[in-house]
Amino acid sequence: VREPGPAPRAETLRQAILAAISGRWLSPREISGEVRIRERDVAAHLEHLERSLRASGARLRIDPPACRSCGYVFAPGTGRPSRCPECKGERISAARFCVEQ
Ligand SMILES: [Zn+2]
Repeated sequence: VREPGPAPRAETLRQAILAAISGRWLSPREISGEVRIRERDVAAHLEHLERSLRASGARLRIDPPACRSCGYVFAPGTGRPSRCPECKGERISAARFCVEQ
């Protein structure tokens, strides 16, 4: 008997995410479009993927969000800040992710 719900698909999804960002920079929104998951679920999958990648020697690289107005760079993370702490600007670029083998 298979359990309903997202759990059985999680590994498949992470393989799809890995394929999508291997050697290519994508934002969580772009990943969600390619893999067909919700954008807000991307972060959790990326965190899990990063842990499993460490064993294989591949590396998840993060291009952190930055303020388009003053260039302030946010701490690397999977969230998307809404406002710059330096200039209070709200034009923030999304983080992007890439896997290097
Ligand atoms: Zn700023």
